Formats: sequence, C-alpha cells, structure tokens
Amino acid sequence: MFNFCNLYSGSSGNCSYIETDNVNILIDCGESQKKINTALEGLGKSLSDINAIIVTHEHSDHVKTLGAISKKYNIPVYANQKTFDNMPDQTNLISDENKKVFNTDDHFEIGDLDIHPFHIPHDAAEPCGYNIYNNNKKISVATDIGHIENYILKKLEGSNFLLLESNYEPSILKYSKYPYYLKQRIAGPNGHLSNQEASDTIVKLISNGVNNIMLGHLSKENNFPELAYKTVMEEIINNKINEKLSLCVASRLKPSNVINL
Ligand SMILES: [Zn+2]
Ligand SMILES: [Zn+2]
Repeated sequence: MFNFCNLYSGSSGNCSYIETDNVNILIDCGESQKKINTALEGLGKSLSDINAIIVTHEHSDHVKTLGAISKKYNIPVYANQKTFDNMPDQTNLISDENKKVFNTDDHFEIGDLDIHPFHIPHDAAEPCGYNIYNNNKKISVATDIGHIENYILKKLEGSNFLLLESNYEPSILKYSKYPYYLKQRIAGPNGHLSNQEASDTIVKLISNGVNNIMLGHLSKENNFPELAYKTVMEEIINNKINEKLSLCVASRLKPSNVINL
C-alpha cells in the first residue's frame, strides 16, 4: 500500500497525508487541529495514528499547528535546521527528542518510506520539496516554487504521482486588491508558480513519464480551480500531446480523493 491524500491545499493552509502498510505521515501542518483530524477521520485515521510530520518550510500556511500537534500527540517532526530556527513559536513546542533535523541534500527513512528533500526557490529560510519512495514508486510534492529550474524538472521526472503548485493567474493577480509589494513577491522568482508555469512544467514532465498530477496551493483571491485545470489542458492540446494525463485540483476546503499507487 502506498497512498496519498491531500487534506487541504492553498494559500490558506496546507497538509497532505501519506500511508504505507507500516507508517502514516503528514507533510506540513498548516490547518487547525480540528480540520486535520476531521479530514483524517474521513480516512479512518486520527492524529494519534500519525508517526511523523515532514515540513517543507516555515511559512504559517504550512506550520500553523505543527508545534501544538507534535506536542499533544508526541509526533516526531522532520525539517532542516534553518526551518527549525525560523519558526521559534513552533519549534519551542516540539520536544528535543521529536526534533529530527535533516540535511536537505541527504535522504532519510521513515519506516518503509525513503524521503529525498530537494531545494526549491521560495522566500523562506531553506524551503524544500520532496520525492518520497516506497516499493519502487515515487510521489513528489512541489509547491511554493518561485520558478522552475532544470534541476527541479529532473527531481520530478519519473514521479508516479505529483502534487504541483498552480498558485495564481497573472491577469487576476494584476488587478487584485493585493498591495504592489505582495504582487511582486508572488510573481517574483522566489514567490509562487502561475497557472501557465505549471502548465509548461507539466508539458515537459509528461514525456518523462509523469501522468498523474494534482494541482495545488491555489490562491483563493487570484485563481479558480477550473481556470488552473483548463490552462493545463489547453497547453496539452496546443502541444499536441497524446500521452494520457490524470489531472485533478486539490481543494482549499476538503480532502482530495485517495491516490493509490
Ligand atoms: Zn511559502
Ligand atoms: Zn505556502
């Protein structure tokens, strides 16, 4: 068994769940305990069943309840040192034995999961994406990415399933009520990935065997799920791509379907 479920995704809060026969882990803890528990209950689980939490970066939409959940349920937290150092409100709640520091360039194991973090360009201390392997299958999580570089494409190639950011639509962002500096931040090289950038990435990956993709981390103000979906599909048609693509969009409000690999 190697299952993925996105519990919540978007600029308001992020949390994903992965289970195998031997472990259950969360990626990020950016929603309330109540909402995370409700989502897990839908899968027949609860926070008491979680063996570990791995963290992408210290922004509050990813770690809002991390410290409290680790403390209450005695769950080990895996993050690099800079991430621990840059979220003192969370880190102070995590016991020393539950602080598991990794080097972003090294892989580590949790039960039967082999976890490979990789660097991503984003305005946090040392943000990372993840390749997660079990039984020769590969799940990749890549959100909060300012721009796609070649080494990131290489990390994502061959994924049996990919959660990829599709954060904003440039024309909506341009006319949104966001202050100028925030618009610059989002669209900048260390901000977030646009619908078009996500589509271009998918076109490149689809010929490298990636055909099961969930778009995630959509902005509430500057995007619509239908638009993110349509942008990818149009790009696939424009590029005359014949490979099959299973595409869905993660919700800010409710858990995704369970992806079985
Ligand atoms: Zn972020
Ligand atoms: Zn985020």
